Amino acid sequence: MGETLDTCKLLAALKFSADKHRRQKRKDGESPYINHPIDVSEILVRIAGVRDTETIVAALLHDTVEDTHTTEDELTRHFGADICSLVMECTDDKSLPKAERKRLQIVNASHKSPRARLIKIADKICNVLDVSNTPPADWTLERRRDYLNWASQVVAGLRGGNAELDALFDLSLAEAKDKLDAQAASSV
Ligand code: ZN
Repeated sequence: MGETLDTCKLLAALKFSADKHRRQKRKDGESPYINHPIDVSEILVRIAGVRDTETIVAALLHDTVEDTHTTEDELTRHFGADICSLVMECTDDKSLPKAERKRLQIVNASHKSPRARLIKIADKICNVLDVSNTPPADWTLERRRDYLNWASQVVAGLRGGNAELDALFDLSLAEAKDKLDAQAASSV
């Protein structure tokens, strides 16, 4: 693992990802999509202390294949085979039905490489915070609770590589559940 991050490579990945996601918004319908890969990367650097450039480059790119028209070939050409394979470890097979994709995330979590696990936990932290703080308007309390339960099942198979990251997930999940409980109590 390198000691310092390569700013030039990080900015190239950020530029590529921002361009690919340029027409997309987050689930709240307002935030630019690129805020999400930036959040994931920021947590990996600040909380997990990751100083491995390839991990952060892959984090910036982690949703490009799943959510834009970016191809594996394109990623390999721009960023090399290692980063491409890291991104693909974080990519669901969109040809499968959604329920099956969600099931596979739980089943496959513990078979991911150590670097992909870190990216995936940081991704789940960001998604849990988003569902808690800026939930999509049409998500019921029940749907939000189901999401939190599913995320914790996935992370159960991913954890163990970085104590700070695991702790932040646990804290984020606990706070999100408390908030849901409070909202459920006030809505009856
Ligand atoms: Zn993501």
